[in-house]
Amino acid sequence: MAEYKCFSCAKIVGQDYLRKKIRCPYCGSKILFKPRSVATTVPAR
Ligand SMILES: [Zn+2]
Repeated sequence: MAEYKCFSCAKIVGQDYLRKKIRCPYCGSKILFKPRSVATTVPAR
């Protein structure tokens, strides 16, 4: 399942919201992007 992130408020927008319109349900922004594959392990310093 794909999830998108709002560019404006940085909340995760589920795919359900994107069926009809590409729009953030939280702030109404139309700018959403697909975040890269989630949480690869961060190498320890
Ligand atoms: Zn938003």
